[in-house]
Amino acid sequence: MAAHLHAEVRVDLDALRHNVGLLAALAPGAATMAVVKADGYGHGAVEVARAAVAAGASWLGAASLSEALVLRRAGLEVPVLCWLDPVSVDYSAGISAGIDLSVSSVRRLEAVQAAARVAKRRARVHLKIDTGLSRNGCRPEDWADLVRRAAKAPEVEVVAVWSHLACADEPGHPANDLQAARFADAYAQARDAGLEPLRHLCNSAGLLTRPDLHFDIVRPGIALYGLDPVSGAVDLRPVMSFHSSVALTKRVSAGDSVSYGFTWTTKTDTTVALVPVGYADGVPRGLSNRMHVLLRGRRRPVVGRVCMDQIVVDCGDDVVEEGDEVVLFGSGERGEPTAREWADTLGTIDYEIVTGMYRARVHRTF
Ligand code: PLP
Repeated sequence: MAAHLHAEVRVDLDALRHNVGLLAALAPGAATMAVVKADGYGHGAVEVARAAVAAGASWLGAASLSEALVLRRAGLEVPVLCWLDPVSVDYSAGISAGIDLSVSSVRRLEAVQAAARVAKRRARVHLKIDTGLSRNGCRPEDWADLVRRAAKAPEVEVVAVWSHLACADEPGHPANDLQAARFADAYAQARDAGLEPLRHLCNSAGLLTRPDLHFDIVRPGIALYGLDPVSGAVDLRPVMSFHSSVALTKRVSAGDSVSYGFTWTTKTDTTVALVPVGYADGVPRGLSNRMHVLLRGRRRPVVGRVCMDQIVVDCGDDVVEEGDEVVLFGSGERGEPTAREWADTLGTIDYEIVTGMYRARVHRTF
């Protein structure tokens, strides 16, 4: 870690490229859309997108149009799909930049048609069917009308029909087959309306567990970043690790308490190490007295409250020195905690941990 940094998120783009290759090999008949929304799940959207494309991804996926435009402006030329914007968004900017737009309603279709006329260019759209998630997507009862109108609209080219799985991380869940059946029906209706769209349905978990649903494009997100949503036996490599270093060490006496509120008190004389990262850097306060770090090759407990800028590590009688590297989470290979471990302790998912790691004052190194 560079000397002037107090904390660093390392993004291992070799691991990312490995994951892209692995996932593409698991879905040989499908193109890979690398999902890089939320700043590449906290890893850096542009850097991740470039690495993913270099490793074989031929599509990029973003939530908002503004995210998609960032990719285009960074020079990424592959098709980019975005799927979640208010109707007030300026679609014409996206159409001019050749961004693919998701459409879930007639109202949205009309907004895209109007924007295409402004942009003087045909809009590439992916019609989204709500197959059961009850979130984004057109209800099945409104679908026939939507596909009919889209098929007749000269301003749009229907590139794909798509949907999103609700319970793909539970492979035995009956919703998966039900959604697949509704998706097949929606696709058939699109064909009946004269369209010949691509199809895409699978996120990472679907990609890993449902080869029968890969269709033309798969849309992995979390697995790109090396985090396995279904605990399968695949060799995914975690991409993000979080590092700091010891700022101060001191001996404290038996009976001394540590950090705000005195939630931890030493039983014996011990050495504590102060590490200059806190909840402002992405260490959740909810991990107070419930986390470990890797320091000098050993997992050691963080004691007392996590503060805004610092945590305290109990090192017992071991020798530790100011400047020693501290690993907060990583791949787990060296015994360090993982993002999954943080998530399990906090009762959340590792998605939330890594996407929450973007902090203005934490340096990101690729
Ligand atoms: N497709 C869509 C529409 C999404 O919203 C997401 C993420 O939530 C993904 C694909 C990728 O999902 P995952 O990260 O579970 O692979």
